[in-house]
Amino acid sequence: MPIRLLSSHLINQIAAGEVIERPASVVKELIENALDAGASSITVDIEGGGERLIRITDDGSGIARAELKLALERHATSKINDLSDLERVASMGFRGEALPSIAAVAQLKLTSRTANDGHAFEVEAGGGEVTEPAPCAHPVGTRVEVRELFYNVPARRKFLKTERTELGHIDDALIGLSLARPEVEFRLTHNGKPLRALPAALDHAARLRRLKPLFGAEFTEHCLALMADSPGIALSGYISAPTHSRSQPDQQYFYVNRRLVRDRLVSHAVRQAYQDVLFNGRHPAYVLYLELPFDAVDVNVHPAKSEVRFRETRLIHDFVYRTLKRAIAETRPNSDDPVSDQPPTLAPSPAPAQQAAWGFAPARDYPSAPSALAVSGMYSLYSAAPSEEVREASSAALSPPLGFALAQLKGVYVLAENARGLILVDMHAAHERITLERMKRERNQSALVSQLLLVPQKVLVSESEALLAEELNVTLSDLGFEVDRHGPEALLVRRVPALLADVDLSKLLRDVLSELRTYGHANSLHAYIDELMATMACHAAVRANRRLSLPEINALLREMESTERADQCNHGRPTWVELKMEDLDRFFLRGR
Ligand code: ADP
Ligand code: MG
Repeated sequence: MPIRLLSSHLINQIAAGEVIERPASVVKELIENALDAGASSITVDIEGGGERLIRITDDGSGIARAELKLALERHATSKINDLSDLERVASMGFRGEALPSIAAVAQLKLTSRTANDGHAFEVEAGGGEVTEPAPCAHPVGTRVEVRELFYNVPARRKFLKTERTELGHIDDALIGLSLARPEVEFRLTHNGKPLRALPAALDHAARLRRLKPLFGAEFTEHCLALMADSPGIALSGYISAPTHSRSQPDQQYFYVNRRLVRDRLVSHAVRQAYQDVLFNGRHPAYVLYLELPFDAVDVNVHPAKSEVRFRETRLIHDFVYRTLKRAIAETRPNSDDPVSDQPPTLAPSPAPAQQAAWGFAPARDYPSAPSALAVSGMYSLYSAAPSEEVREASSAALSPPLGFALAQLKGVYVLAENARGLILVDMHAAHERITLERMKRERNQSALVSQLLLVPQKVLVSESEALLAEELNVTLSDLGFEVDRHGPEALLVRRVPALLADVDLSKLLRDVLSELRTYGHANSLHAYIDELMATMACHAAVRANRRLSLPEINALLREMESTERADQCNHGRPTWVELKMEDLDRFFLRGR
């Protein structure tokens, strides 16, 4: 065949192949257009899973009569003008591709009215032809109707799934966009029946209400809200409490400047942050909003715009990791209880600096934290406290979050009473967390002590890994390693972090190298150490069937309150539950 220029209709059909995969892609593009037009309310009406009809109505700025036909032209956009605009895109769209692509594979009707016009105009497109604008009735804003999607692309049509599946994808697309814009109202109907109604949510409480039908009450009742701000970068949103993880990574939404993106770097940072509070194979749920200057991200890297490229990848990885980690560290029994917000009336016993907020001295001065390797002395950790004052305080309704000891059940659970009711603590799980956190504090204080190997160990690596090890020699020695090049594809390890003397060195070293290369720091090293410490903590923690005295229990409760991440053990299981008086009354049918 001779070379020739393709017709613009065919060009649009080719573009549609990339941009319009299924009805949900049409919905996504059209909602994005409505958002770019500043809509405050968007209605999506679907028939037949989107194959028969997709109609999106917005109350945005509208399109002037003179531009209606142009909007359907390829590469026609009102959103960018020159290359410098492309480098700092603030709108969802910028390629001028969506409308012509949709019109190339469906029947499209575009109705619009701007605030300056007395009435609306509409154009129809299909088979490459566009009609002249005709006057019609419509309020200010835009309505796009897409019928018979893929009527002229049988191959695509064949790949469409059932009505329900396609509707599911449409719903997902709508959820993804609606989470980015809580201030906009969204509605979805299918075959005339309302499916979703998400009113605008302007404050925190309203946002949680709007999240509830999307994420479930489990999430909204237990999620952690976070907000971190630094010059040039901010992160906010909601993440699931470690004790409310999911078996699937299905509720993970990450937005960069309000654009939903998938990003390996970011998922890695999130996983790292949850490491040591989540069981292997469990997944957190989250909605996170990262805000960056527009020119710090390149959004022009993916046809459906679902990936972006960051200029400062390490900085972002670090910021996300640190922010989440800090939020997760706060998961411990705390005094959100109005009762314990009262100023303490009990005189604190004279002494230690580490007094809890409500004015009690800790039960005793704990022996200084044992070294990570010598944990056997832990059993005698909890002992004598001045218990008289402690009982009185309880009756004064001035109780700390976990209250005061009542008893021990079957050597496994600890019972305590706080201002709201009954507290049940899994003794072993709680002590395990306390022990682990203590070890981690110790480790942070005393850097990574390194240990000389009796026999240097040879580790086979690839040539690029060997080069990297040479290049990163200083970093490695900061981490406690002494590593020499030993031939083109081998390293000789002479020194390792003391805690890790017994682990599989070659795997560890390769993991550390690969992480140093990709993320700039060696999380896997800390992961190894954390894992090891978790095992040690588990062995050191009080076993079931050990009798604790009430003062010992009180000491345990106080320490839980001051321990980071104390709400869950190292495997993400909860360490305590609260049965409020209302719960108990309901159980006994009291007051009915
Ligand atoms: P892009 O969004 O990349 O600019 P589109 O093909 O999606 O390309 O849209 C082309 C142009 O049509 C947009 O730049 C915008 O000016 C206009 N437009 C599309 N949808 C709407 C809408 N719902 N409200 C107002 N203007 C719109
Ligand atoms: Mg667009």
